[in-house]
Amino acid sequence: MKTTNEMELLFDSRSENEGFARVAVSAFLTQMNPTLEEVEDVRTAVSEAVTNAIIHGYEGKEGKIRILSRICDGVFYIEIKDDGVGIPDVAKAMEPLFTTKPDLERSGLGFVFMQSFMDEVEVESKSGEGTLVKMKKHIGKGQEIWTTQSL
Ligand code: ATP
Ligand code: MG
Repeated sequence: MKTTNEMELLFDSRSENEGFARVAVSAFLTQMNPTLEEVEDVRTAVSEAVTNAIIHGYEGKEGKIRILSRICDGVFYIEIKDDGVGIPDVAKAMEPLFTTKPDLERSGLGFVFMQSFMDEVEVESKSGEGTLVKMKKHIGKGQEIWTTQSL
């Protein structure tokens, strides 16, 4: 039988809430018995997506960010959504070093980090229609280490 556990967070697009989102998501992830590395990977990916929603999506203005997360059969799913300005060309935005805010010392590597730390990253966005970032990661290294050690 499949066991699923879901949680949802809704918060204001303020930079103070970037840390909150990271901590809340890692607390939810803990029940999967992740390794420290897996926790760090998820924290970094969440941080990049939430920062993007605050800085690019809402351009520092007020708005709501929604996080939906699901645990199902050893897989961790997370969606981060904003109703901000949206991305006109998603493929281009995801290219390494592409940034629309070089003046703010952005390096254009947020999506690259998300892709390297998570197993799958999908971005749905259109100009004026907000952005949805969907990510997925198999969590199980902790269990594998335990099994190997106990042999
Ligand atoms: P870094 O993350 O390295 O500080 P960056 O944020 O510019 O720099 P990415 O996170 O890779 O780099 O994002 C690339 C570009 O995609 C951004 O410069 C921005 O134009 C666009 N973008 C990303 N997320 C959003 C979003 N939520 N809303 C609108 N535009 C976005
Ligand atoms: Mg970024």
